[in-house]
Amino acid sequence: MSDAPVKPSAGTRLRLRITASAESIVRSGHPWLFSDSIHETNRPGQLGELAVIYDRKDKFLAVGLFDPDSPIRVRMLHAGKPVTIDTAWWQARLVQTLARRAGLFDATTTGYRLIHGESDGWPGLVIDRYDTTLVLKLYTAAWLPRLDEILGLIKEKISGERLVLRLSRNIQPLAEKQFRRRDGQMLFGTAPINPVIFSEHGVRFEADVLRGQKTGFFLDQRENRREVETLAKGRRVLNAFSFSGGFSVYAARGGAKSVTDLDISAHALDSAKRNFALNQNFSAVAACRHETVQADAFEWIEKTAAKFDLVVLDPPSLAKRATEREGAIRAYERVNALGIHLLARDGILVAGSCSAHVSSAEFFDAVRRAAMKSGRKFSELKTVLHPADHPAGFKEAEYLKVIYLKFTT
Ligand code: SAH
Repeated sequence: MSDAPVKPSAGTRLRLRITASAESIVRSGHPWLFSDSIHETNRPGQLGELAVIYDRKDKFLAVGLFDPDSPIRVRMLHAGKPVTIDTAWWQARLVQTLARRAGLFDATTTGYRLIHGESDGWPGLVIDRYDTTLVLKLYTAAWLPRLDEILGLIKEKISGERLVLRLSRNIQPLAEKQFRRRDGQMLFGTAPINPVIFSEHGVRFEADVLRGQKTGFFLDQRENRREVETLAKGRRVLNAFSFSGGFSVYAARGGAKSVTDLDISAHALDSAKRNFALNQNFSAVAACRHETVQADAFEWIEKTAAKFDLVVLDPPSLAKRATEREGAIRAYERVNALGIHLLARDGILVAGSCSAHVSSAEFFDAVRRAAMKSGRKFSELKTVLHPADHPAGFKEAEYLKVIYLKFTT
């Protein structure tokens, strides 16, 4: 491959024929076509170009972005009737995506997801808003040759003072070598000197948009944080795997007596302290005792003698790949058993999972098993899946699930 950026080919369209089973999967709207499902191509495809998929009767089936180096060879943009993918089509798609967020947030929430990848029709592409800062994150190299085009669309339809580019780790070498694009690079506007400040339901947070995990904050847990606020009054709260203390500041605003942030990362805990400082205008936050513990949470919760009235357990993904699924289910059961053990009478467990390879049923059952084996009386308050700005349109996209249990003995 040359070092020059590869432009989507203007010559003959890339045409693919695929296996019968892949045909029905694509027809049903699934956004991924794997390389081993392709049995015929008219020519080699280039990164980011449009690939048109035809069925056995030579009828148009779908069109998507081609990636010659990924096992997900095509990421669908559209399936069904034939379409022309031109500037007007992209504009319409963006307008449609933004319209899905209309009315979701009022002025007290300035941090949320504008585009959520496949499930919004933008496979492998995310845009988050943090007040006037926009963050574009790419999880597939197929968008790299199209960045200028995307940039034009964003400038036209989304207001913002700056746009940061974030790249998933696996595409960073290619992005640098072939496209001179780097993780944390500004696409427009000036680089922020400090973390950017935004708000969620009136709670102020900082986000490290240049280097932080995901795009700088876990925006997907917003509605669970708000729920925790309503449950926290008078309680001693443990926020295990706290990151920057998102759940904790809400708990404090909800009247928690004390909040303990537990994370292995000193960087995350420093951010949690600053997030508490940002919200001292709320008298309940100012009155709440806040402590941070830097430790391996799995070890700490096993050893501590402390008791809590509300435990939030939201670990990082415990199954990074499908083969880790069973081990992850056991690990969820074990870590939640330990969390339950720390709960005082009438204590509440808020257990989360962000592993796409573990289904919500498998996760909820693992937590319920832990609760049953504890021998304590408990009731299930609720289960929560994806929030509206993080839609999950197909099975592999369903990563987020949270279950709330209350232990009455
Ligand atoms: N609940 C958070 C997001 C959690 S992300 C929120 O709503 O914002 C997972 C966090 O777990 C990260 O901050 C990471 O530093 C931390 N982590 C990973 N492994 C850990 C371990 N073994 N012990 C404690 N924290 C850990």
